[in-house]
This record gives sequence, structure tokens and C-alpha cells, in this order.
Amino acid sequence: MKTTVLLHADEIARVLDRLACQIMERHGDCEQTVLLGIQRRGVDLAVRLGKVLEDKLGRKLPFGTLDINLYRDDWTTMHARPTIGESNITTPLDNKNVILVDDVLFTGRTIRAALEAILDYGRPKTVELLVLVDRGHRELPIHGDYVGRKINTARSEKVNVLMEERDGRDEVVLESA
Ligand code: 5GP
Ligand code: MG
Repeated sequence: MKTTVLLHADEIARVLDRLACQIMERHGDCEQTVLLGIQRRGVDLAVRLGKVLEDKLGRKLPFGTLDINLYRDDWTTMHARPTIGESNITTPLDNKNVILVDDVLFTGRTIRAALEAILDYGRPKTVELLVLVDRGHRELPIHGDYVGRKINTARSEKVNVLMEERDGRDEVVLESA
């Protein structure tokens, strides 16, 4: 197996800072902004992003989590079935600017399922998507509004997102067979 480091720890930190600045460019003081992380590493990223924004804004943004799993036979067959698990959204979403946060955007099916799940919690004013990596291969009209890195990948490849709190180090690695 061949592995290529796409983002080192310091680059991940810089990317998150840039994405936080882009959020503030669009949403100013983020008064109506809610961060929703998608389990598991999307939640880790949303927590990180929340801290960066808190440093810049001087207050915490409301935060929630969504658990959406796609079961696929393997990375090359896309008969993905979303399973919506436990979500933890205690903050109201009505009329809010929701920012969904996930680690990798691929076919778009997880985000489609997330949009459906969100509607059970209210009617946001806007929903945007932030991803650390967009690896292409979209099967639905879904795009990232805030994208850390856009990378051309083969379907058979995999992007490994390692997070310090979960994996012991921050790194994004491309794995090819
Ligand atoms: P999609 O639903 O867009 O096909 O896939 C996105 C979801 O599957 C994300 O929640 C993401 O965590 C996971 N995913 C898809 N492709 C990859 C990948 O190459 N690496 C990692 N780490 N996750 C992926
Ligand atoms: Mg995921």
C-alpha cells in the first residue's frame, strides 16, 4: 500500500484558521450560527473549529452532533445506505445558520441524509457545509461551502483523517492500493 501525506498537523491548524475566517466573512459575529458535527471525526473537527471561532469571537457558538453512518460494501461500490443514529442537538435550529462539519466529502450521500435528519429538529435559515477534504466523486448535487483541501482521488483510494484526540496525531493521508 502506498501512502502520501496530504496535510501535516501545522497545515491542518492553518486550514481550520482559514475556514474560521471564511465563516466570519460570511456570518460576521456569527450571532445566529450553529455548528453541527457529523460523528465521529466531523465532531472532532467541529469542536476544534468551535475553539478557533471562540478565540476570535470571544464566545462559544452553539454546538450539536449528528450520527450518520453509511454502510457500503467497499469503497468502490456505492450502494450506500445511510443509518441515522443518535443525534445530540439541544440548541434550536429554527432560523439559524447551520454549518454542518464533516471530515471527508465523497459521494454526498451522508450530507443528504444529514439534511433530512436536520429537518426533524427545525427549519434553519441556511445550512452550509464545511469539510476538511473534498475527494470528488459526487453522486448528488452537494458541494462544500468551506473546503479545507480539494483532492483528486481514485474511487479505490482512501483518505485517512487522523485527529490527535482520537488517533494520537493530526494528519491527513492518502492511501492507495
Ligand atoms: P459520502 O457520504 O460523501 O459518500 O462520504 C462521506 C462520509 O464518508 C463522511 O462522513 C466521511 O467520514 C466518510 N468518507 C468517505 N470517503 C472517505 C475517505 O476516503 N476517508 C475517510 N476518512 N472518510 C471517508
Ligand atoms: Mg464520516
